[in-house]
Amino acid sequence: MDIALIVVFILLGTVVGSFLNVCIDRLPLGKSIVRPPSYCDACQHRLAPIDLIPVFSYLWLRRRCRSCGALIPWRVFWVEVGTGTLFGFLYWYYMVYPTTSETVQLVVTAFYSCIFIVILGIDLEHQLILNRIVYPAVIVALLLAISLNQPDLVASAPPAFLSLPDVAARTVTGVTGGVTGFVLLLIPALVFPAGMGFGDVKMAGLIGLVVGFPLVFVAILGAIVVGGLVGGTLLLLKIKGRKDAIPFGPYLSLATIVTLLFGNNILSWYLGLFP
Ligand SMILES: [Zn+2]
Repeated sequence: MDIALIVVFILLGTVVGSFLNVCIDRLPLGKSIVRPPSYCDACQHRLAPIDLIPVFSYLWLRRRCRSCGALIPWRVFWVEVGTGTLFGFLYWYYMVYPTTSETVQLVVTAFYSCIFIVILGIDLEHQLILNRIVYPAVIVALLLAISLNQPDLVASAPPAFLSLPDVAARTVTGVTGGVTGFVLLLIPALVFPAGMGFGDVKMAGLIGLVVGFPLVFVAILGAIVVGGLVGGTLLLLKIKGRKDAIPFGPYLSLATIVTLLFGNNILSWYLGLFP
């Protein structure tokens, strides 16, 4: 039963990933993500059902458009496989793993993961974090904090927040996290304008709102540490084709998804280092 549903969630995730690819392709160009139906960027050929089966079509057609033979980027494949794997894991983690059984948290985490996968894909390809994604996401995150009971959001919240009624506790945890995230990256963005864009600063505000206070520190500092290690390694190895400015959005996205899942565990582990 559980295994069957995990497989269902993996397949659902690949279909969702396929839609996220459409978002990554079209949002930076200002195109609609619902119309027209999927087509090949190179020859405008409208894709048939055989072209649209996630993961399978990509491999079956050997990464090429059936009509003109144009290569389809690997990103399409990895977003589908990654979203599928993540959805399967989310189902297992929230519904099967013994200590949690949180349908709301499953849906919320899946939804936020999709937003951060799209931000990741677009920032990698365009070095852009779009306001047209971040602003609506901020409003949705605020509404979700107010309306849905999300145990993970407040699990590490300060006692003063938790003494408030539930709705207020979640809202204050989210908004404090959002302001903290915004300020955390605003300072480096003002000091080193060349190193960090204002898109990263606004994204950090969104992240804080999504993971709350104090988990915002886990997400932002985690991204800085991992981004610094990877960026430093790339610089040391002088990997070719890398621009000087390595986009920070992908690290922020991955760190946020990890924080949504394990932030409370990471925080209590870290605080346990200093008894
Ligand atoms: Zn084509």
